[in-house]
Amino acid sequence: MKTLLLDHDRDGIRDLPLIRDLPAYRAGQIYKWLLSGVGFDGMTDIPKDLRAKLSELYTDIGAKIIKTARSNDGTEKYLYELADGELIEGVLMKYKYGRTLCVSTQVGCRMGCAFCASGRNGLERNLSSGEMLSELLCANARLGSERVGNVVLMGSGEPLDNYENVTKFIRTMSECDLVGQRSVSLSTCGLTDKIRALADDGFSVTLCLSLHSPFDDRRMRVMPTARAYKLADIMSAARYYFEKSGRRVIVEYAMMRGFNTRDEDARELRRLTKNFPCHINLIPLNDTDSGLPGVTGKEAKEFLGKLEALGASVTVRRSLGEDIEGACGQLKRRYTENLHTEDEHGG
Ligand code: SAH
Repeated sequence: MKTLLLDHDRDGIRDLPLIRDLPAYRAGQIYKWLLSGVGFDGMTDIPKDLRAKLSELYTDIGAKIIKTARSNDGTEKYLYELADGELIEGVLMKYKYGRTLCVSTQVGCRMGCAFCASGRNGLERNLSSGEMLSELLCANARLGSERVGNVVLMGSGEPLDNYENVTKFIRTMSECDLVGQRSVSLSTCGLTDKIRALADDGFSVTLCLSLHSPFDDRRMRVMPTARAYKLADIMSAARYYFEKSGRRVIVEYAMMRGFNTRDEDARELRRLTKNFPCHINLIPLNDTDSGLPGVTGKEAKEFLGKLEALGASVTVRRSLGEDIEGACGQLKRRYTENLHTEDEHGG
């Protein structure tokens, strides 16, 4: 298969056999086009024969939006097709302070969380940094004069299970003035060695930890990774990240009735998040046919109240795009189900 040209940065492009004997500005021109989401056909200041040669060896567009859904609140869901035909999803959210894009980092996921739709079929493959960039460029292209201001790595995949490509993506976004590190949130189910690596490598993104229960034994019931990564280690890695980066850590907590919203859950969650600046983000569980119960608005408020009474910094995440099935993996699932039905009718 051809390689994606965007997997190279400007210097990488300059060093390619096809480019290195050309005037030095060519690489810069090509890279600039790629970063504005323009394919070989549209690179008007590049000689035609060079464009033809490039397209024989490289792919110009890493991801294409093939389906969109738009919510009444302005949220848009995208189904992207990658060059090899794999499908991933993205969500563009509209906030008062700008646009936030939820980016996928893998096709599928191998973490196997019980409530999450992305990992139902395991991991297909990692996304390359150029493919992740392409997700952002597609969204920017749709926005016209507006730009994505914030990126959350909360689409399909476990970002820290694809460390090299994800960190390259983060670096490129900030080096190219697309989205700065402080406007990037990276969500992980808690791979402690990689959290420490992020700290040691000098990153300053917002680290978000998917906790979902403050007790290891309960957490194991919904998150298989909890067997390998214990809460005490996760919190100490998070503290290390805070100390190195100076960034407050966000704890994500999807509320499930009877499972993680009891008084003792609030107390233990507060205890775990007390020793360094942590903010707790309570998430109403999205229904993904997992059989796990969510909470009502009233129950969410009650649990919020318990944590506030204990002195925690805590908010309930505003739910966007509910009418278009904002939850992870649903657009892809519906699309592939429809494809199969059409196949059956056609065949
Ligand atoms: N692998 C990363 C990113 C996953 S998605 C991680 O585990 O953090 C981002 C967040 O959405 C995670 O906190 C994840 O646990 C949560 N999530 C997944 N499915 C959900 C659902 N059905 N309802 C609410 N939150 C969910």
